[in-house]
Amino acid sequence: MQQHSQNADFSQRPYEAIAREGETLVATHCSFCGMQCGMNIRVSNDTNTVLGVEPRYDFPMNGGRLCPKGVSAYRQAEHPERLLKPLIRKNGRLTEASWEEAYDLIVSKIKELQAKYGKDSIGIYSGSSMTNEKCYIMGKFARIGLGTRYIDYNGRYCMSSAAAGFNQTVGIDRGSTGPWSDIKFADVLLIAGSNTAECHPLSMPYIWGARDRGAKLIVADPRQTKTALVSDVHLDLRPGTDIALTNGLLHVMIEENWIDRDFIDRHTTGFEKLAETVKRFDPQTVSDITGVSAGKIVEAARLFGRAKNGFVLFARGVEQHSTGSDTVSNYVNLCLTTGKAGRKGAGFATFTGQGNGQGGREHGQKADQLPGYRKITDPKARAYIAKVWGVEESEIPGPGISAFEMLKSLGEEIKMLLLVCSNPMVSAPSIGNVAEYLKKLDFFVAIDMFLSESAELADVVLPSTVWIEDDGTTTNVEGRVIRIKGIDRTPGESKRDWKIICELAERLGRGQYFRFNSPEEIFNELRIASKGGVADYSGITYDKIDRMNGVFWPCPSEEHEGTPRLFEDLRFNFPDGKARLHAFEHTGPNEKIDGEYPLILTTGRVVFHYLSGNQTRRIDALRRLCPDPYCEIHPDLAARHGIGNGELVKISSRRGSIVVPAKITKTIRPDCLFVPYHWGKTLAINNLTNPALDPKSKIPEFKVCAVKLEKAKQEEMPHGQSTVH
Ligand code: SF4
Repeated sequence: MQQHSQNADFSQRPYEAIAREGETLVATHCSFCGMQCGMNIRVSNDTNTVLGVEPRYDFPMNGGRLCPKGVSAYRQAEHPERLLKPLIRKNGRLTEASWEEAYDLIVSKIKELQAKYGKDSIGIYSGSSMTNEKCYIMGKFARIGLGTRYIDYNGRYCMSSAAAGFNQTVGIDRGSTGPWSDIKFADVLLIAGSNTAECHPLSMPYIWGARDRGAKLIVADPRQTKTALVSDVHLDLRPGTDIALTNGLLHVMIEENWIDRDFIDRHTTGFEKLAETVKRFDPQTVSDITGVSAGKIVEAARLFGRAKNGFVLFARGVEQHSTGSDTVSNYVNLCLTTGKAGRKGAGFATFTGQGNGQGGREHGQKADQLPGYRKITDPKARAYIAKVWGVEESEIPGPGISAFEMLKSLGEEIKMLLLVCSNPMVSAPSIGNVAEYLKKLDFFVAIDMFLSESAELADVVLPSTVWIEDDGTTTNVEGRVIRIKGIDRTPGESKRDWKIICELAERLGRGQYFRFNSPEEIFNELRIASKGGVADYSGITYDKIDRMNGVFWPCPSEEHEGTPRLFEDLRFNFPDGKARLHAFEHTGPNEKIDGEYPLILTTGRVVFHYLSGNQTRRIDALRRLCPDPYCEIHPDLAARHGIGNGELVKISSRRGSIVVPAKITKTIRPDCLFVPYHWGKTLAINNLTNPALDPKSKIPEFKVCAVKLEKAKQEEMPHGQSTVH
């Protein structure tokens, strides 16, 4: 089988990775964002310690490049703050204990609580930075190890609106319709709600590739980010007005007949209603709602509508809203009404934030899902998975509830929580309330490699390994399944997450369903479980991934080469093969500004940190570059408040406040503030954010809340900050 052409991107340089004397190179992938860049980990042959990292030239996504996070990721491995022994809370303090003691306590609590309150008294809050194998085993453990319906994962806070939007519009949730190399062949790129240059920096060469071929770049973002700075048109919209903006673009494209009527008629349904809805969204009306000039709206519509090929790329700025799913669908509508699908240079994608954000939402750790992206309420899916697992269909519980809904209901039906690879005390909205919810638990167990802000609150903490100490697979932003290769070691008494789960299952008397000796054995069961599902991995093997430098799902047989590009036959994943053009009204954010809270707060990432910062805040090189959060303020707004650059400001919402230094910059709208979210405790901007959920995806509205701004005094800066020193 030949390596498919989508790999012929940056990988043609004459470079061969050569290990230095006394070292072995382990060819694997970055642990952080969904690009999953290829890297070689340098390992000492004498001590089996991790010495450093080099980018891989043979992996097409990054072709010899790494961003600051990727260069530093390896430093987690030998970090002195790693958890090396189980911890049990005794007299209020977490104290080192043996695995037997920890397991005995956990298992006795599970048995006691389930006997008293029923199977659903245990909940699992899982993560999407784990391998596919671990995500799969978490879903299986919840359903037939514990018999609980309560499992969900932190991907709810990340790409779930993209998933819901894709599902309702094209019937399949794969983060990108094509390989990343397709981007270079677009004539126009519309990047919405993504500061690609900071958050997915290794995507920028693809955007430059398209630019070199003459592509136009439109960026929709409230901030003039580094990405917006290099655009042809910057649509600097008010946060929470994307539906109005996209309706405006559709309005102009329809009025000017820059749409593809033949494509619409043959391959979509719902156009008439969409056209009727967007009639009211003329450029001036949209300008009044969004704050973007009517001229820019027309110019962007012209660039996008008239281009033959084009790609829409978006991220959390579009998705983390109470209308996030519909916003995603409306951006996809731009492609579908102009016939931009199913070929090189034409499609749409979401920038996956978590390393395995894609695979993490496919294999059964979502509240409503079984492996292969099957619905847990579908009788056929339940019967199939029951057969794969060797249980009665009736043993598989029904659907649970989403991650934040689970947190809110702690202490009600859920009495014990198992937290895996997640840190909701930084990443959840309205953290002050989350701390109160966790206190209502009878028992709280965390599995982590570092003592995160959330693990600090647990009754038992189990030490897990870091990503390069285990084998497995992840699925990157393109839908390409790749191999994570690990070093054979488990420092101290740490254990691999899947091993911990198998050992717990054994002690719960359910070991017969969890007798796995390696990640590959788990993967081989996952393949069968996914067979016939939307996310079909059944034709993917470890060996095939190695031979092909990754395999794109769906891949329904071992002879199949995988599916780098979706919809090439212009059939979408509905019985009639037609995409659904849904029409949306602009409703705006859940929380509106008013006289008391007159400014819009929006949150996001910086290039130096990953998600809750539990890993990156511990790495000196990254912490030095960005030690603390700050607040971006427009000079006009700062002048009105008498605030100078670097001075402390207090930002308050209806839920909490934070004191941080001001960063005065013209790149932000005068009616907005921006604060990055990678810190905990008193430095957590999520103390302020609004927990309003999108009804379809259940994603919280991280991107908009109403706040007020005040100048702060030094003594208002709380002591005991959460940054890890
Ligand atoms: Fe690549 Fe993302 Fe890792 Fe940076 S963080 S090296 S862009 S995978």
